[in-house]
Amino acid sequence: MELRLNTEATAELLAGFDEVILASGILPRTPEIDGIDHPRVLSYLDVLARHASVGEKVAIIGAGGIGFDVAEFLVAKPNQSTEQWLAEWGIDQEYRAPGALMLPEPVVPKRRLWLLQRKVGNPGKGLGKTTGWIHKASLRHHGVKMWGGVSYKRIDDEGLHIERDGESLCLAVDNVIICAGQQPDRSLQAVLEQQGSKVHLIGGADVAAELDAKRAIRQGAELAAVI
Ligand SMILES: Cc1cc2nc3c(=O)[nH]c(=O)nc-3n(C[C@H](O)[C@H](O)[C@H](O)COP(=O)(O)OP(=O)(O)OC[C@H]3O[C@@H](n4cnc5c(N)ncnc54)[C@H](O)[C@@H]3O)c2cc1C
Repeated sequence: MELRLNTEATAELLAGFDEVILASGILPRTPEIDGIDHPRVLSYLDVLARHASVGEKVAIIGAGGIGFDVAEFLVAKPNQSTEQWLAEWGIDQEYRAPGALMLPEPVVPKRRLWLLQRKVGNPGKGLGKTTGWIHKASLRHHGVKMWGGVSYKRIDDEGLHIERDGESLCLAVDNVIICAGQQPDRSLQAVLEQQGSKVHLIGGADVAAELDAKRAIRQGAELAAVI
């Protein structure tokens, strides 16, 4: 077996293979909102992978798992000590009260954040059953506003214009971060098939919706066992 790291797989490089497994992942989906090209708009990849600088007032469009992760990333305080973490969550290591609980210390938020979704209802319902409450509680500690039933009108120099509960308002944010779903990255599929290779799609390249690592790994293992 030959392993090539730090190499972009191109059609030329893959010419002559009988079978090719495309595990190229996803591309973030860009929603159609007036002003989506405004300089204050970032994708979650800009923030998490390209370390874009993010302002103090931020709206996140899309409150799925990635939206929650981005929100937590933006409010997290690097170098937080264990003592600070215990105080924030109201945990008393001296066990002076039942359950080792004490009043949590109020958090001074690092940023003002709005986590928004189009779907009516409270954001976070689709998060994992055992950990979802932690993500929601953590964001509440940091004063993050989690709003459902939002429709997006436009983005301009004033900020993000939305409608919620029949009311029009403008969130005067520095940045709008898009976490509004993903689409499969199959950019090599057609050309590889033209070259005569049989192409198999797995993971995000197969289905981008509701993707989790478990499915991607299972598809890879099952395919490897049959080809
Ligand atoms: C912020 C965030 C949080 C997440 N949290 C969770 C979680 O808690 N639990 C969970 O199960 N899942 C989570 N996921 C989803 C998880 O990352 C995906 O399900 C999983 O990575 C999908 O695997 P994949 O192999 O399809 O694609 P990826 O892991 O995206 O891998 C595709 C790789 O192919 C590379 N590539 C693309 N084209 C080429 C090319 N031409 N040549 C060479 N390389 C190429 C890409 O650069 C990328 O490295 C999260 C995703 C994000 C973004």
